[in-house]
Parts: sequence; structure tokens; C-alpha cells
Amino acid sequence: MTPARTPAARRARDIGLDVRAPKAKCDDRHCPFHGRLPVRGQVIEGTVVSTSMQRTAVVERTLLHFVPKYERYEKRRRRYLAHAPPCLHVPVGHRVRIAETRPLSKLVAFCIVEDLGEAARRVAGEEAAGPAAPSPTPETEAKA
Ligand SMILES: [Zn+2]
Repeated sequence: MTPARTPAARRARDIGLDVRAPKAKCDDRHCPFHGRLPVRGQVIEGTVVSTSMQRTAVVERTLLHFVPKYERYEKRRRRYLAHAPPCLHVPVGHRVRIAETRPLSKLVAFCIVEDLGEAARRVAGEEAAGPAAPSPTPETEAKA
């Protein structure tokens, strides 16, 4: 896949994952593509919920966990702090793929490696955007 080494062009490195390399370049030391940060371990998909920090994003993932006693699923979520390389301009609301790295700081041990585009609005519990409102009229019969 990677043709030949062209140090002048500074092509994105092959990070060993099946992801699309970013089109932009950056000079971030902690960029898996343009720096020298190895990624290994878990690869997780999530939604970006905040990019207020410098080069770090909050990525949230929602899981369904089965509760045998009630035979139902409960929603669980976890937030990961992930390094956001400047070459991937990932905005809030996008789904991303994050890959585990060595610890980059006290709380950051993941790095965003792929932007999967805008997430469906229902993912992060944002039902307000959904057009489906089945019964807008209040039920009058129930009060009889
Ligand atoms: Zn980069």
C-alpha cells in the first residue's frame, strides 16, 4: 500500500491499522501518522463530545449491557480522553476511531486515528433532533 519512502513529501506512515490516512499533514510528535507514536492494543469507536482541550478530545462510547434479572439492556457509557492530532480536524459530533497508545498524560492513553464522519443524532441521546413525535396531543380519555 505504501509505495516508497519519500521523506521529502513526509507521507503519512502506515500505522498498522486499516484506516484512511489523513489528507493534511502535521508536525505533531504524538501523531501516529506524522510523528513517531506507536499505536497498539484496543481500537474503539466513539463520538466526539468535546474538543475544548488543546490537541485532546473527549470521545464517548455507549454500550448496551444485559441485566439478567430484568431481562433488559441498560445503557452504559464511557468517556475516553484521546489525543487529537491536528491533521485530523475532528469536530464535535463526529464519530471517530481511537486506538490505544502508551500513556500520553495522566488520563490520555488513546489517539484518534480516523474520522468516520458525522454521527447519527440518536447516538448520544439527542432525541430532540429526531422528527418522530408520535403523539403530540395529550390523552383526554385517561382522565375519565
Ligand atoms: Zn498528523
